[in-house]
Parts: sequence; structure tokens; C-alpha cells
Amino acid sequence: MSATPVSPVERPIGIAPGVAAFATLTPTLPPATHTNSYALGEREILLVEPATPHEAEQRAFVEWARGLASGGRTLRAIFVTHHHIDHVAGAQALSEELRLPLLAHRETALRLGDAWRPELGHRHLDDGDVIELDGPTPQRWEALHTPGHAPGHLCLHEPKLGALGVGDMVASVGTILIEPQDGHMQTYLEQLRRLSELGAKTALPAHGSAIDEPSAWFDHYVSHRKMREAKVLFSVQQLKRAGLDELVALAYDDTPREIWGLAKLSLEAHLIKLLDDGLVQREGHSYLPEAST
Ligand SMILES: [Zn+2]
Repeated sequence: MSATPVSPVERPIGIAPGVAAFATLTPTLPPATHTNSYALGEREILLVEPATPHEAEQRAFVEWARGLASGGRTLRAIFVTHHHIDHVAGAQALSEELRLPLLAHRETALRLGDAWRPELGHRHLDDGDVIELDGPTPQRWEALHTPGHAPGHLCLHEPKLGALGVGDMVASVGTILIEPQDGHMQTYLEQLRRLSELGAKTALPAHGSAIDEPSAWFDHYVSHRKMREAKVLFSVQQLKRAGLDELVALAYDDTPREIWGLAKLSLEAHLIKLLDDGLVQREGHSYLPEAST
């Protein structure tokens, strides 16, 4: 992958005092092409998202990080939001090169396999753990365990700054996929509501630019998913007995056919929720409405 050219995105981008973004090219879902890493803190600095697998991009990341570490500033650790490849592809290489420990939820660490090396000081974080970063204006980032997109997904909240690192809970470019293997729709919706209630001023997503007044954004995600859930239920009721191929064509008839392959994963996540809610039943590969619905 060494031939991959350094991407032409603008970087780094200053978002607030002590908050900067640095996008790197990653194997992510189109239309997104990059994952944002962040540097948090004014003197002690926490890096977020060791995302890129590409050597040239890793070198650019290391150069940026070493630049941050000059002038009396110190790099503390690298925070990992969750285990998806477009977030952790550089975890091992970057933590070893910069000699920084990784911080991640236990569920994420389990999925990192050999890249998770406790002897390097890698540490588990859980809901409520706080990372304090000293500086002219000290920062206090609280880890929030927000499963639903991925089992070990963590967000970071700094109430005084009103800043919220949201990983893949929402994105301002592309869509967030809830797939049956890693995700759980009901849990995801609950966690979005929880994030909305924080009333943050700025959300820092992994894909796309920073989001002002993100509570409206979280609420929009919830209502969009509820709309889709209603459409999935309607499709099951219309078709009476149908598999994923027939259901996706009806429940996602407002989306381009090219994305139906991915949409089928979301469809399945919605169906699992409807099965849990007792509104749909399953027989083999077919879904049927519950008699009472
Ligand atoms: Zn993800």
C-alpha cells in the first residue's frame, strides 16, 4: 500500500482551542473516503482514531503528531472509538512508532487481536472513565460506552467545551451502517437519544466535518431510522411472506438499487428489532407479519 498518494484533503483543521482534526485516507464506506483523527488538549494531547492502513498516510500522521509534541506539549495516548477497519487499521503501527498506549473498550480490545499489546501500556476504558488533559485550559474528556453500531463503541464528552467525539454514531458524510453482526438497532437508537440529551455544542464525527448543535442531528437520525422501521414493517405486512431480496426492493424503493446490497444489512437489523418487538415473525429465511399486526 506504499504507493497510495497522500490525499489532497485540507489538514489539519482547527475546530476549537485544543481540538484539531486530521483526516487520513481509509478503506471506509463510500461516499466517505477518509476517517478523521483528532488531537485533543492544549499541552497534554490525546490522539483519537489511528485509522489509516496506508504507509504514506501513516507517515503524514506521525509527522503531524510529532509536530504537536514539540514546544513543550506531550502526547499521552491514542484513543480508539471502535474496532472497524477504517478506525483501527493504523492502531498497531502508529502506537508502536509513536510509543503511545492505546485506550479502548474491552470489546474493542478483544477484536484487535494481536494489535492489542498490554505490555505497551494499552488500557481498557469503560463508561464514565475520565481522561484529564493538563494545559492552559485543562480538558476533561469522559468516555461514554455507546454500543449499537459496534459493541465496544466509545464516545468522548467534554462538557465545558461542549464537544462530543462521536466516532461512527453519526456522520456528516455518508451513512452509518447498523449491521446484524456488530450492531443492534434498538441499542443504537437508545444511545443516540442519550447523546442528544447531552446538549453538546459541537460533535466531532469520524467522517465529514464537525457538526454544530448535534442534538438536532441525533434526533434526525432517530426519526429517519424510525421512518425506515415503519417502512420495513409495512413491507412485511404487504408481502405477507418474503425474504430479504423482496423486502429490500420494497422497503428501500426510495434508494438507488446499487446500495441494496448494503441496505440488506440494515434491513436485517431492522427486522431483528421488529422480531424483538413481537411485530414480525420468522420462518426459515422468510419474514411474516405477526397475526395481530
Ligand atoms: Zn464503524
